[in-house]
Amino acid sequence: MSSQVTNPQTRIWQELSHQHHLAPFSDYKQLSEKGPRIITKAEGVYLWDSEGNKILDGMAGLWCVAIGYGREELVEAASQQMRQLPFYNTFFQTAHPPVLELAKAIADVAPAGMNHVFFTGSGSEGNDTMLRMVRHYWALKGKPQKKVIISRINGYHGSTVAGASLGGMKYMHEQGDLPIPGIVHIPQPYWFGEGGDMSPEEFGIWAADQLEKKILEVGEENVGAFIAEPVQGAGGVVIAPDSYWPRIREILAKYDILFVADEVICGFGRTGEWFGSDYYGNSPDLMTIAKGLTSGYVPMGGLLVSDKVFAVINEGGDFNHGFTYSGHPVAAAVALENIRILREEKIVEKVKAETAPYLQKRLRELADHPLVGEVRGLGMLGAIELVKNKQTRERYPAETSVGMVCRGHCFDNGLIMRAVGDTMIIAPPLVISHAEIDELVTKARLCLDLTARDVQA
Ligand SMILES: *Cc1c(COP(=O)(O)O)cnc(C)c1O
Repeated sequence: MSSQVTNPQTRIWQELSHQHHLAPFSDYKQLSEKGPRIITKAEGVYLWDSEGNKILDGMAGLWCVAIGYGREELVEAASQQMRQLPFYNTFFQTAHPPVLELAKAIADVAPAGMNHVFFTGSGSEGNDTMLRMVRHYWALKGKPQKKVIISRINGYHGSTVAGASLGGMKYMHEQGDLPIPGIVHIPQPYWFGEGGDMSPEEFGIWAADQLEKKILEVGEENVGAFIAEPVQGAGGVVIAPDSYWPRIREILAKYDILFVADEVICGFGRTGEWFGSDYYGNSPDLMTIAKGLTSGYVPMGGLLVSDKVFAVINEGGDFNHGFTYSGHPVAAAVALENIRILREEKIVEKVKAETAPYLQKRLRELADHPLVGEVRGLGMLGAIELVKNKQTRERYPAETSVGMVCRGHCFDNGLIMRAVGDTMIIAPPLVISHAEIDELVTKARLCLDLTARDVQA
C-alpha cells in the first residue's frame, strides 16, 4: 500500500503503528516497512480506508460482522447500557438484567437441550473455559483421569495457551512449547488438500475413523472430549465430505466422551441455520460461541452447556473459573440487540432461502477459471483453491505465494478476500445483497485473472 499513499494523515498513522503498535499474527519488521492499511469507517458490507478507497468486505471483519456495519440499534443499545450500568461483575452471587436476558435469548436459538451459558470475553477464553469445564465434569463424575482432549490438525480454536494448543496450527505450536500436555490431534477432513487418490466419500470415512483410532490409542478411560469446528474456518473453510459427520456421530455414540462444537464462526447464522451443529444434525454437549454473537461490535464469547453437563456441574460446588468481563453488561446488551435483529429481520432464514444459494451458485461459476482447482462453500462461507494443474490438484511452488498475490490484487481492486496458503476464502456479512454478491464475484474473477497473469509470467 505504501506506494499509493497520498493522504499525509495515512503516513502519520502508519508511523504510529511502527513506533508503538504490535498487531496480532504479524511480521513486525515487514509491517513497519509496508505500513498497515488504515481502515477509518464502514457501512453495510463496505469499508473505507484512509486513502478514500471503498472496499467490499468479503470477510465480515474477521467472520464476525453478521448484521453488517453501521447498525444504529447496536450503538443505541451500548450507549443506553453504558448510562444505566456500564459495568458490574457477575462474580459473588450478583447478576444484572442484560446478562440474564442474553443467556435466555441464546438458549432460545440454541439446539434443544443447550440451556446454560458461561460468558467470556472472546472465543479463545470460551475454549479455555471448555477445557476446564470438561475436566471439572469428569472429576465430578469420579473419572479425573479423563483429561485428554482430541482435536484436529489445522483446526482453529483461538490463541490463548489452551486455545492455541487445542488448535492444530503447526506454526502456532512452534512458538512457546505448544501444545500443552493432554491435547492430541487427528487429521482433518480436507479432501482437496489431503484426500490423495481416495474419493471424497472414502476420505471422509477415513478421516472420521482417525477419531476412533485415537480414542483407542489414548484409551477411552483417558479421553474427556473431542472438539471440532462444524466447518473449519481459519484452516481454509474446510468442509468435510458428506460421509464424515454421520461416521463421527457413530463413533461418538460408542464411547463415553463429550463432544464440543466450536461454533465461533458457524454460530449465529453463518451456515443458514442458527448453528453449524443444526446444519449437520450434530448434538454437541458443549458449544463455544463468539464472533457473530455481537456481530463484532463489542467483544464477547461464551460456552453453551447442555443439560447433561449442567446436571453434573450444578451438583459440584464451586467452579473456580471466570473473567472480570464475563457477561459484561454493555457486551450483553449489544448481543441481545444483535440477536433481536437476527430474529426479527429473519436474517438466518433469508441466508438459507435466498442469499446463500445465490452466493454459492455465483461462486461456483469461478470453477471454470484456469487457476481454480475447486470452489466449495455452504451458507455464507466459501473457498477457492488456486492450483497450477486443475486435473491433478497440483499446487504452485510455495515461493510463488499465489494466495498472497491474489490477496494483493483483491485489496487493490476493492475486495477483501483472505488467503490461507493457496486457498482464497470468503465469509461476507450475512446481510449481503444479491447485487453486492454480484460485485464480489465480478471482482473475484478480475483478481483471479490478474493473479493468473502474474504467476504465469
Ligand atoms: C476466531 C475463533 C476462535 C477464537 O476467538 P477469539 O475471539 O479470537 O479468541 C476460536 N474458534 C474459532 C473457530 C474461531 O474462528
